[in-house]
Amino acid sequence: MTDPSRRSSGLRSWFSANGRLEFVLTLASVTLLTGACLALILVPRNAGPLQLATDEAEVLDTTEGIDDPRLTPVRRELQPFGPILVRRVAAGGEADALLVAHPGHRADLDVLEHELELAIADVSAAWGVDWNRAPVIVVAGTPTEFTALTRAAGATTTADVAAVSLTGSYAPGTRPTDQRIVFNPDARRRVGDEGLATLLRHELTHVATRGVTTDGAPLWMLEGYAEYVAQRGRGNTFSQIAPTLTTRLRAGALPTELIGDADFTGTDAAYAYESAWSTCAFLADRYGPATLTELYKRLATGPQSPAAQDAAFTSVLGVSRAELLDGWRAWLRGRAV
Ligand SMILES: [Zn+2]
Repeated sequence: MTDPSRRSSGLRSWFSANGRLEFVLTLASVTLLTGACLALILVPRNAGPLQLATDEAEVLDTTEGIDDPRLTPVRRELQPFGPILVRRVAAGGEADALLVAHPGHRADLDVLEHELELAIADVSAAWGVDWNRAPVIVVAGTPTEFTALTRAAGATTTADVAAVSLTGSYAPGTRPTDQRIVFNPDARRRVGDEGLATLLRHELTHVATRGVTTDGAPLWMLEGYAEYVAQRGRGNTFSQIAPTLTTRLRAGALPTELIGDADFTGTDAAYAYESAWSTCAFLADRYGPATLTELYKRLATGPQSPAAQDAAFTSVLGVSRAELLDGWRAWLRGRAV
């Protein structure tokens, strides 16, 4: 999200203030789609046979990959935009993951393929292994293609870097298998290779947790947890992960409440994501990662009133909201140096 020439500086570049909002806006965009929505947008008028790039080492073998039913909607959506590369990656799931891009994004596939098995293992270490660990991951070739791949009917789009979409029908409480992660064509240029690896983990966390997550659940929990899992063990410092929050803490401004859903859009979205991450990082630090995951499962079941959240804090953490906030603020104070 910054000058690509600084890519080698990895997350330092990624976390620079310039462009961070762009990244953060992305994370807000967990878009649920139906196959029907996509079909309306994407089915080309003249869909000829699948075009494959000529790199024999990387294109799908026609006898094995073409028959993968997960590729059918991807083919339909990408084919009008040119040849595609498809890589199968055995990443620890019951089936292989599929990575798809046009040949111009071969380097993006290299990064994602290199990271995928470890990223899935990292998410599973936090969440467990009962999720669809065989995602379909697509790097869009153009912003138009990204929009087409992620747009829900009637929804507006923002300058997103990545999104998780659900291409099939889904019932809460079931384990969705038709999810795919879509990256914006500029994602790697904006966030760098290290940032892309972290972003992959963030989106995979949304995939993993989808089966127990209902729309309308508190965003501080949904986004904070995804970013906590994404950052866990990545070796980034507090100020690298949360530069805006750090600036405010150093100025003496401590949060008075958990960040609200409305704050995740608009000009203060970067702070909202950082604040949500810090809440979850604190909870994991104080009560343990397993307790944080338990709290996620409790709060992700749909919209939660303040009283319902208070009840969850009491039953899962054994504290009141006031005690939670006091503990969080004290934890933040110790990191604002
Ligand atoms: Zn997210």
